[in-house]
Amino acid sequence: MARDERGVTAQSEDFAAWYNEVVFKAGLVDRGPAKGTMVIRPYGYRLWEQLQGELDRRIKDTGHENAYFPLLIPQSYLSREAEHVEGFSPELAIVTHAGGKELEEPLVVRPTSETIIGEMMAKWIGSHRDLPLLLNQWSNVVRWEMRPRMFLRTTEFLWQEGHTAHLDREDALRETMLALDIYHEVARDLAAMPVVPGEKTPGERFAGAVATYTIEGMMRDGRALQAGTSHYMGTNFATAFGIRYTGEQGREELCHTTSWGMSTRMVGGIVMTHGDDKGLVFPPRLAPYQVVIVPISRGGDAEVGEAAERLAGALREAGVRVHVDARPQLTPGFKYNEWEMRGVPIRLELGPRDLANGTAMMVKRLGGEGKQPVPLDVLPRELPAILEEFQSYLLARATAFRDEHTRMVDAWEEFTDAVSTGWAVALHCGTRDCEEQIKSVTAATPRCIPADGEPATGNCVRCDAPSAYGKRVIFGRAY
Ligand SMILES: [Zn+2]
Repeated sequence: MARDERGVTAQSEDFAAWYNEVVFKAGLVDRGPAKGTMVIRPYGYRLWEQLQGELDRRIKDTGHENAYFPLLIPQSYLSREAEHVEGFSPELAIVTHAGGKELEEPLVVRPTSETIIGEMMAKWIGSHRDLPLLLNQWSNVVRWEMRPRMFLRTTEFLWQEGHTAHLDREDALRETMLALDIYHEVARDLAAMPVVPGEKTPGERFAGAVATYTIEGMMRDGRALQAGTSHYMGTNFATAFGIRYTGEQGREELCHTTSWGMSTRMVGGIVMTHGDDKGLVFPPRLAPYQVVIVPISRGGDAEVGEAAERLAGALREAGVRVHVDARPQLTPGFKYNEWEMRGVPIRLELGPRDLANGTAMMVKRLGGEGKQPVPLDVLPRELPAILEEFQSYLLARATAFRDEHTRMVDAWEEFTDAVSTGWAVALHCGTRDCEEQIKSVTAATPRCIPADGEPATGNCVRCDAPSAYGKRVIFGRAY
């Protein structure tokens, strides 16, 4: 294995090994003692907090209110919606003993909260005037993972789950698409992930949903990552939990409900969308630190350290998230490599000679031409724009990568070839059997029916039966 001095396997050599090493070595995460659990370390948690803050603001701006529901749910609640319980049963963690004795009714550690929120909605909604009810919860959930991967599949993860109740199908579908739009915007504009929004095929729907919508991103190994989902539940959960309202004419009606979630999985998505052989590359809008200043003070002269702090202060005032790496025991070279591996967009090197010239050496993590001297007094004014440029560069680079690894295919041989390096966009018959066959032969699954796909009909790429959906479907191997 080719390794650089920080000991990270090159991404181009072994993507899975690269991922597993870089998330630990960059200080994003550590393993928890219970199987499949993760400890999110401060550097990883800062990234999550950036995303969380931005997403929370958008959720509130669109009229939703945050609330909190209990972690423990009576097991019988999950059984009330047949498909829901079937979908989640294998992943449930169940509390059978508490307070030193066996419980009369076991409690499920929430894998998602439709059931408990549905129960409360039934209590809170009486008339049509109570609708729509627009709730969101920030929480942890537990889904037992047999093959955990940090951030991507862990037994416990953090997320938000939106849960809403509406008068009718139309209003609930509008809400489902609104949530998907928020996710699309967060992924594209903040994470610089050029995700594709679309609908899941019936076989890939959420357990208990009438329709599931998704945003799918392409990782740098060509695999897909489902980065957020939004579900229209129809009246399934309203029927199971008695979520009803009295209409204007005095008739009792069932509510139409939705749910939608985005999770710490996004951290893994950002790592795999932008990282390279040297390590992480963070988009400036979410980066824990947008700029790191490395003071070079041989013999520890105080002047350089003080100038670095002054520069940091001026940058903070300009709204830049900046960190000064003043660790005295480490060489500048070590620090450069480390911050490169940890994905900081811009590095500023400041030594006695730079200080004498009134400049700092600027190095971009990607897309720059080596070191560039920049006057200290213009940095606070210019860095925000330089960071925005870096953000756009990442989105353009990821979009070009996705497009280069996406192929419109009509023949089966082309299909297998396309999904070995990226995505295949193909016609499909829509049957579960055929989806399963494709999966067993190629490991690819239908990722979504893209929202902006052109109308298309013809025969299924695998079985030659007439195509369903009226559009092509994106297939890919997925995380
Ligand atoms: Zn088929």
